[in-house]
Amino acid sequence: MARVVFENVVKFYGSMKVIHDLDLTVDEGEFLVLVGPSGCGKSTTLRMLAGLESVSGGRIFIGDRDVTNAEPRERDIAMVFQSYALYPHMSVRENVAFGLRNRGVDAAKIASKISDAAEMLQITPLLDRRPRDLSGGQRQRVALGRAIVRDAGVFLMDEPLSNLDAQLRVNMRTEIIELHQRLRSTTVYVTHDQTEAMTMGTRVAVIRDGRLIQVDAAQKLYTNPRNVFVATFIGSPSMNILTGVVDEDGNFRGAGLVVPLGPLKAAVTPGQKIKLGIRPEHLQIGTGQGQVRVGTVELMGDEAILAMHTQDGGTIRAKVYGKPVVKSGETVAVSAEPRHLHLFDIATDESLERADFIIQEEA
Ligand code: ADP
Ligand code: MG
Repeated sequence: MARVVFENVVKFYGSMKVIHDLDLTVDEGEFLVLVGPSGCGKSTTLRMLAGLESVSGGRIFIGDRDVTNAEPRERDIAMVFQSYALYPHMSVRENVAFGLRNRGVDAAKIASKISDAAEMLQITPLLDRRPRDLSGGQRQRVALGRAIVRDAGVFLMDEPLSNLDAQLRVNMRTEIIELHQRLRSTTVYVTHDQTEAMTMGTRVAVIRDGRLIQVDAAQKLYTNPRNVFVATFIGSPSMNILTGVVDEDGNFRGAGLVVPLGPLKAAVTPGQKIKLGIRPEHLQIGTGQGQVRVGTVELMGDEAILAMHTQDGGTIRAKVYGKPVVKSGETVAVSAEPRHLHLFDIATDESLERADFIIQEEA
């Protein structure tokens, strides 16, 4: 097991800078998720760590070693890809054994490692089959098995669940987390799916356009997003963002709504233009000043998503539990408790809530 450090890492493809001064430490034994939209540089970051891609500037450390220019095989890393990358002409057993044979591990040791990993991943009955005779989920387990037997210091996983159907993906998430709890290996896990990131990561690093925006505990990203991008990227449906002005009494006024800021008014001044963020699950229906018109109501079993139109022509969404009491076409009042509000600078999109104004939620 080892710690991973990116120090000022830069990557250019030709003249295009795709990674900007990345500073990031993955602690020993940690499960860190890199998340961000497609094309933001997640795979490039992982591939530089694995040594599959060169670094244009800065340094990468694994443990105490500077591996910036080390060959992939010198880095003590095991990687799992979205595509599984299994050898089709080899059995599962041979696929799992391949990396160990290449390293000259003796046959008895290989056999015992394969049997341990196969038990852990419940693929023992599949060991003599070929990849083509396996389901997607089974193939992904084999790919995990091949990584586990390596006993590498660091595990890298690049969207390993993307090719699986929704239900299997949810199951495999749990399996990978449980696997990590057993092995406690330093793991960097890449996904573009914020739900996957939030449910799996001990810490989550949010990347946008090659820049690390925020790295924090998943719950912290949810309660204290540092800017509008993180605020709207994390959570589903996305946080509502309203534009307006702070009045003399410390209310937000915008989009036809009046929302008291409570203690948060200390973070702003009267007359200041701001963006106000309210998550759909925090919007309260039936109380408050200012009206919205209910558009569509999506029923989803025990909860419903309401799309509601504000007076300035915008749309905000509310998530309600149980059967909604309002119908499409009705006009209703909405509000939110100050502790659930998020304030952002109108120009920079950065959060305006300084630590002393933030009301911490119970973890
Ligand atoms: P992600 O994994 O987050 O979807 P990538 O790391 O694959 O993003 O890509 C980051 C950026 O680098 C994208 O703009 C992509 O088009 C570009 N890119 C990736 N690989 C190459 C390459 N081999 N040559 C040129 N550009 C690349
Ligand atoms: Mg990628």
